[in-house]
This record gives sequence, structure tokens and C-alpha cells, in this order.
Amino acid sequence: MNADSVKGSSGARIGKCAECAQSFERSRAGQRFCNPTRAKVSPCAKAWGARNTARGGPVLPLLQAWAMTRHAKPGTREADINRYARREITAIAKLFNEQDQADDRGSVLDYVGALMDSASLFVDRIR
Ligand SMILES: [Zn+2]
Repeated sequence: MNADSVKGSSGARIGKCAECAQSFERSRAGQRFCNPTRAKVSPCAKAWGARNTARGGPVLPLLQAWAMTRHAKPGTREADINRYARREITAIAKLFNEQDQADDRGSVLDYVGALMDSASLFVDRIR
């Protein structure tokens, strides 16, 4: 295993902005957004965060319901809820991915890949 595989792709010096999809030079490992003006908070990070906050509203209860019912016994209302939630989550995610592509935004895979490479887990950060 070499140093690059330990750091993961987000440890690379050149990143791809998760919002505008432009290449940029990272000032720290795991940086996911460009910040050409060196603003306190990257304008791309602000735009990404605002859009995803709005998008997350309708998705969150569906995700929670899906997680709560993922081992539901077939034929139960819980199993029906699980299928409904999964179908809705899939359709909404497809719509958002299509919107991102149409608007030439960065791929969510770049964002999640950088998050994964940082080895930082949300549940650890909020505890
Ligand atoms: Zn950007």
C-alpha cells in the first residue's frame, strides 16, 4: 500500500469542486469545494449547502422510515412502507442527479468520495 492509497483520492493536491466541478488546488486534505477568493466560507460550499438543505427536507423522513422498516416481515404494512420509501428515495435521487448534471454541477460521487476518504463519520462528529 502506497501513501496515495492511504490518503485516498481526496488527499490528492488537486481536487474537483463538488459544486462547480472545476479543478482546484486543495489547501487541506479532504477539501471538497473550491475557494478562489479565499473567503471564510467558500461560495461553492454555501451554494451546495443551501441546495442540499432544501433537498434534504423531503428525503429525510423517507430515509428514516426506510431504515426503520428495512427488516420488516413481508406482507406487513411496515414492508409496504419500506418499498414506498425506497421507491421515493430512488426517484428523488434520480431527479436531483439529473438536475445536477443539467446544471453542470460537480458529481455527488466526488463529494461522498472525499467524505469517505476523510474517514470522518457524521455520527462521530455529532456525539
Ligand atoms: Zn467550486
